Amino acid sequence: MFNVERVAPAPASLNRNQYNAQDVIDVLEPMFYGKCYLCEQDELADPEIEHFDPHMGDETKKYDWDNLYYSCGRCNSIKGTRHTNLLDCCDVNIDVLRGIKCLLPSCPDADIEVTAQINSPQADNTVELLNRCYNEKNTPLRGITRVVLMDKLFELHVEFQHYRLTLKKKKYTPAEKALAKNRLAEMIKSHYPFSVFWRWHVLSDSFLSQQLDDVIDF
Ligand SMILES: [Zn+2]
Repeated sequence: MFNVERVAPAPASLNRNQYNAQDVIDVLEPMFYGKCYLCEQDELADPEIEHFDPHMGDETKKYDWDNLYYSCGRCNSIKGTRHTNLLDCCDVNIDVLRGIKCLLPSCPDADIEVTAQINSPQADNTVELLNRCYNEKNTPLRGITRVVLMDKLFELHVEFQHYRLTLKKKKYTPAEKALAKNRLAEMIKSHYPFSVFWRWHVLSDSFLSQQLDDVIDF
């Protein structure tokens, strides 16, 4: 999970009881860096507007700007109305990155490890939801979307490991090492797909933590 600053004012369509409108999407999509706020995929083929607090027919919650989040279809359907009282990535007082640790497994069929780093019911509830978003394959279609998700993650993980190796091995030139460090510095920023993984993979790696010491801001 990554923090989002909801700086833009509520789009006009919400006053006309329309949330699935162009002016809402125009602001919401870039505000979330085009990423699902739960799994952090970008370039979504199935983007959806998600109600953080399920509206259950409540018109106030349905058209409340602060309750609208950007998500993929997979995460939205998994969250449904069951998962509530979560860590809020739009709350500037909550460091959601530090609150939830995510680590990749070594092979794609294994589970992603999601653990709470702070003691709160919200953190526990968020871990339960993210575990499902990242790992659930209990229906044939969720099996497919899980494969797509893991393929995207592993593709970037290969790049991440290549940059790490470039910093580590003597055969690479100073220019190549500088480029590798710049690339890793980009990967750990909030705008990057799956940034939570690259940040925690850096924090869990003493070599990379040292290499990126001057660019780590978390
Ligand atoms: Zn998602």
